Amino acid sequence: MTTSGKSAFFQKLPSTDELLRRADILALVERDGRAAVVESIRTVLARLRREISDGRIAGVGAEAESLALALNGLTSAVERQLRQSLTYSLQPVINATGVILHTNLGRAPLADSTLDHVRSAAIAYSNLEFDLESGERGKRDVHVDRLFNKLLSDPVAGVTPGGDALTVSTIVVNNNAAAVLLALNSLAEGGEVIVSRGELVEIGGSFRIPDVMQKSNATLREVGTTNRTRVSDYESAINERTRLLLRVHRSNFEIAGFTEQPSLDELVALSQRRKIPLMEDLGSGALFDLRSVGVNGEPGVLDSLRCGVDVVTYSGDKLLGGPQAGLISGRADLVKRMRSNSLFRALRVDKLTYAALEATLLAYVKGDHDSVPVLRMMRLSKVEIARRAEKIISQVSGGTQRSARSTLEICNGESVIGGGAAPSAVLPTRLIAVSHAEMSADTLSASLRRNDPPIIARIEDGRVLIDLRTVFPEQDANLVAALASLI
Ligand SMILES: *Cc1c(COP(=O)(O)O)cnc(C)c1O
Repeated sequence: MTTSGKSAFFQKLPSTDELLRRADILALVERDGRAAVVESIRTVLARLRREISDGRIAGVGAEAESLALALNGLTSAVERQLRQSLTYSLQPVINATGVILHTNLGRAPLADSTLDHVRSAAIAYSNLEFDLESGERGKRDVHVDRLFNKLLSDPVAGVTPGGDALTVSTIVVNNNAAAVLLALNSLAEGGEVIVSRGELVEIGGSFRIPDVMQKSNATLREVGTTNRTRVSDYESAINERTRLLLRVHRSNFEIAGFTEQPSLDELVALSQRRKIPLMEDLGSGALFDLRSVGVNGEPGVLDSLRCGVDVVTYSGDKLLGGPQAGLISGRADLVKRMRSNSLFRALRVDKLTYAALEATLLAYVKGDHDSVPVLRMMRLSKVEIARRAEKIISQVSGGTQRSARSTLEICNGESVIGGGAAPSAVLPTRLIAVSHAEMSADTLSASLRRNDPPIIARIEDGRVLIDLRTVFPEQDANLVAALASLI
């Protein structure tokens, strides 16, 4: 089309002001406010101008028609644009990946009871830092410290190897990265921290132990080799500047083959002999015994404290199943030093986090493990998952597992704990495998992501895999509808 033809088109486009005088647009202004409507009008008009100048709305005869169509549809285009810009960007999804602690999907989902407590703390004033008995200023940590103390003070093994009664203090900061930063800065600023070369890990989201160490103003003293470190390596690195021995849970990777790592007992013995505190960055830090679901080698917080580790740091939203938080539990005198560090003020958490954490911990204290979604998912049996998978398949295909073009079948697989647990920390599961003669696995999974709410599945060997372990049972019906429309 000629330039003059295009400019004739441009002239037919109404201005923002003209549109704002239309009755149907005025109704939108009434509902969503002028600023949002003006922004949507501008976006829609700009798109139309682009389409005209690209020649996508063009031609003689038919072109007049396509412009008329575009003009007629202006109000609904504005309304669509408005809806898009005013809906939440952060939205719930169905996690069908089987990764229980999926950092990209928000890690631990919270228990219902948690939300009630968060809500009441959020919409009213609270005694966050107010001592109701004395009427004076209080401390925000008391609300969870008492519960951590109950969960971590062990009546049987409640003494340190040195024979002292074990009293555990806990403080809360923004996340475990902050916990490590605060602990290192409080205990080792200006001095050295001894850590094994095999534990200088990077966790997802660019948490690197050496970088955090540098920010904390402590000097990293690396000992041993990538695959082998002995307790004597730590011992010979100790000097007058040594402030701390650090053990880091390797989290997302494992070293196999010719390896050696001192036991926690050996490190505790060294730390006590040389009077240098031992800190452990546990990462996930379970308060629940994972051995009871058949996962070995994931040390719990209590295991480490019982063993004599002075300070442990761990996340609130990993195996604990609570809100994002960093927890520091350990010897009262050391935790006190962290509490009085000005960094603690900068890293502290808000009342919503305290409320969510308090409610989660209360579920543990009551032994109500099934109310914590992460724990419930870990305890789900393969038989239970298979039963739901069979029901879903029969609902999707009305009893037959095969249509001409698509296949839904059940197969064995593994759910992954994730969130800093070892990669080998998996649970046996039954998966629904989806395949289609005319659609690739990528196409299938993209279409599942367009569901409301989006369904996030795993792809393996050209098939889409759905693991119901991480799907809430009340989401099964939605999954059935999505699969039925897909195949
Ligand atoms: C996950 C993890 C962290 C980081 O914890 P965030 O709560 O995500 O800040 C640090 N150290 C280890 C060993 C971890 O597994």
